[in-house]
Amino acid sequence: MSFEELLKIAKKSSKEIALNSKSSYGKVAVACITSKNNIYTGLCLKTTCNVGFCAETAAIAKMLDNNDTKITKLVAVCNGNEIISPCGKCREQIYQLNHDNLDCEILLSDKIVKLKELLPEI
Ligand SMILES: [Zn+2]
Repeated sequence: MSFEELLKIAKKSSKEIALNSKSSYGKVAVACITSKNNIYTGLCLKTTCNVGFCAETAAIAKMLDNNDTKITKLVAVCNGNEIISPCGKCREQIYQLNHDNLDCEILLSDKIVKLKELLPEI
């Protein structure tokens, strides 16, 4: 699957739902494909006091439900169209999920990088 197709899936899954005046679900959406050729999406929970979770975490939970841990490609979008990089916590989480994920390709706004390029000195 191309990044173009994966990006379309991420954008399509994106939807921000207001939970209250300061919390929402779905501002960031992630789509990834695994070595088993499964596609997973995840949406973030944004809250005050930092008790929410990232879209990557939501996608990883679905992966683990299927005993699937090796990501080959991942893309994250904010507000339905802005390509963003996984945050530091998610980079580490993806690595801890399966150390082979260091070779996972991540689409950034201007290039494709491997996770290991975003996690130097590991
Ligand atoms: Zn994150």
